[in-house]
Amino acid sequence: MMRCVLGLLSVVLGFASAAAPVPADLVLVHGKIHTEDPGRSVVEAMAVRGNGIVAVGTDQAIGAFVGKNTRIVDLGGRVVLPGIIDAHTHPAQSAQDLGKCSLDDKALTPAEIKSRVAACLKNQPGERAQWFEVVMVNPSGLTLSLADLDSMLADRPMLLIGSDGHTVWANSPALSLAHITAETADPAGGHIQRDAAGRLTGTLRDIAAEIALAAKPAASLEHEAAQLDKAFDSMRATGITSVQDAAVDDHTMQIYKSLYDSHRLNMRVRGSFHLKNLHEPAAVLIERATAFRAKWAIDPDFLRADAVKIFADGVIEYPSQTAALLEPYLDARGRPTDNRGPSYFVQDNLNQIVAAADAAGLTVHIHAIGDRAIRSALDAIADARRRNGALDNRDQIAHLELIDPADFPRFKKLGVIANFQLLWAQRDDSYIEKATIKYLGPQRSRYLYPARSLRDAGALIVGGSDWGVSSFDAFAAMEHAITRSEGRGHPALLPEQSLTLQNMVDAYTINAASALKQERTTGSLEAGKRGDFIVLDRDIFAVDPFDLHNTQVRETYLDGRKVYSRLD
Ligand SMILES: [Zn+2]
Repeated sequence: MMRCVLGLLSVVLGFASAAAPVPADLVLVHGKIHTEDPGRSVVEAMAVRGNGIVAVGTDQAIGAFVGKNTRIVDLGGRVVLPGIIDAHTHPAQSAQDLGKCSLDDKALTPAEIKSRVAACLKNQPGERAQWFEVVMVNPSGLTLSLADLDSMLADRPMLLIGSDGHTVWANSPALSLAHITAETADPAGGHIQRDAAGRLTGTLRDIAAEIALAAKPAASLEHEAAQLDKAFDSMRATGITSVQDAAVDDHTMQIYKSLYDSHRLNMRVRGSFHLKNLHEPAAVLIERATAFRAKWAIDPDFLRADAVKIFADGVIEYPSQTAALLEPYLDARGRPTDNRGPSYFVQDNLNQIVAAADAAGLTVHIHAIGDRAIRSALDAIADARRRNGALDNRDQIAHLELIDPADFPRFKKLGVIANFQLLWAQRDDSYIEKATIKYLGPQRSRYLYPARSLRDAGALIVGGSDWGVSSFDAFAAMEHAITRSEGRGHPALLPEQSLTLQNMVDAYTINAASALKQERTTGSLEAGKRGDFIVLDRDIFAVDPFDLHNTQVRETYLDGRKVYSRLD
């Protein structure tokens, strides 16, 4: 009886409040709106006023928000998702490569590279002093000598820049302008490759690569902001409305701010401050990071830098093999070598840095690819939990290519978010077969990108692209996460590690919002949240997973405003 009365009362109240709601600016009806709320509700309609969602529900209920100035969008049964949140990407930096000579990450021989470079030089000739850059060079299995490099271009400084973000090949003029000689010692966190006779080969890894990149003259800020604007245009066209830049410094933040100041930053940006010089005292490093956070606290909704990025290792593929492994890499014939990959820090230093960052309320975002680097990162976070308790800083480990199964349960236990780039989780010939599995052997290769195991162990899975290393199309990454394959008819990489589409939508929306500490405003479509959402051309929940990469975004809304339309 009591229940009946309450039921009646709520109907009456519901009617009363629905009688004259303030009209919405925008009402979407007749859709399949995947709200990503805690119950993963799918509703027909949504009302948006100003920059926020005021209600979601049935067509009938939301009809009450239509006033005489309300714009009504008939979705015609189309699927709506929250805006895509890319939790690991490098927009400001990678945008600068748009328009440069690109090798498209194709596995090429030195001779093929030489002819591609020659073609580029023909199209883009330059002055003697002008640096020539070649981007998206696939480093897997590639060995270039300084003679190879100088034969491509000898009288101008030239850099070949690896698509892995960790390798640069410099010709003789570039090495000389970067002040790198055969006598130069390896910088901390980097490697200058030399041949058996101790001569430079032109191959530079990690911090050594950055030294060469820093030697070329800088472009104007205006040009850099325009490049970034173009990149963001393309991202909005694939539904991205928020990004976590995985390695920012003052310069990259300046590029974002220049878009922000000119009202062109139609993207929510959270920066992870790249902590370099891990041998310095933790207090000094974290003081630098908190000063950086304060300096770049531009707008809590659109531009901030309250995370730190730490590189725990490099990349796993042959011949770089700078990922830190528990057991040595194998040689080409399957025999163990004595190479476990480098150590870029002393464990106790890492522990102190992570604990200090955690105590300062910074999200710790660690690049870790090999099983030893991942264990080190987890050990450091475990140590921070012992010192500081659980501070809910959304600490995360990105990439996670090879995880020792003993570490699977530690993600949930320590509250560490698994920040995966699952576009890579497929059995291709160059990166996976010839450059990874061959040098790990079959036993360890069962734990490559173990996304399902981590999920089953209770880890929060988030999605990121690592653009410019690879495409930022989240739907292509979803396809690979499900099929674990390059495409229809191709072999799968550990199909038992497949995630579901719902897992992946979560990973790129509500889970990623949590990783960026913005789940109160974004990541789901609920009353009170910002109007960040996308309209798709197909029902991704009804298509063959191998077709997911064909998904087209028809419209992208950010903060209640349409920022991309395919029809316009
Ligand atoms: Zn990255």
